[in-house]
Amino acid sequence: MVELTRVQLILDQEEPMGYAEWEHKCTPTYASNGVCIMGDAAHATSPLQGAGAGMVIEDAFILGHLIGNISSRGEINAAFRAFDVVRRPRYEAVGANPEKLNEALGRTFAHVTALELKPHKEEALETMRTLLSSM
Ligand SMILES: Cc1cc2nc3c(=O)[nH]c(=O)nc-3n(C[C@H](O)[C@H](O)[C@H](O)COP(=O)(O)OP(=O)(O)OC[C@H]3O[C@@H](n4cnc5c(N)ncnc54)[C@H](O)[C@@H]3O)c2cc1C
Repeated sequence: MVELTRVQLILDQEEPMGYAEWEHKCTPTYASNGVCIMGDAAHATSPLQGAGAGMVIEDAFILGHLIGNISSRGEINAAFRAFDVVRRPRYEAVGANPEKLNEALGRTFAHVTALELKPHKEEALETMRTLLSSM
């Protein structure tokens, strides 16, 4: 139902030409007061980086490893803090510099992104009309 609503919102646009991307580059901490955040909640990246899901899996491995090595509830906060200490620099190295990757990918995939939708639509329509007139 939620997905249908999103599709309807897109279709309501007269010219659906673009969408917004948001990164969450700087999270002051991933662990506080017995709560630990991971994945996109902690470090959302641009989809173009192709790294968000991998970072989530890394988070899960590390957090699981830490939680698996504590022996009492009193050690949970130390596990969360250790997660914060090792994972934030990792994200800051991989995820917080999308400009570098975007620049490189922008050049590599220029042939993919170079489409002008409006003339392309006109070309398709023109082609269809030509085909119809020859039937
Ligand atoms: C268009 C696009 C392309 C991408 N391409 C890639 C790619 O090629 N490679 C890559 O590695 N990454 C990619 N990513 C990023 C990747 O999808 C995310 O980094 C990853 O899914 C984050 O996982 P997550 O578990 O942290 O969050 P999510 O996958 O967002 O999971 C959060 C879950 O929590 C649920 N939820 C939210 N609020 C509540 C609530 N109150 N109660 C219960 N449940 C709730 C949501 O419904 C959702 O199922 C892409 C992302 C986008 C948007």
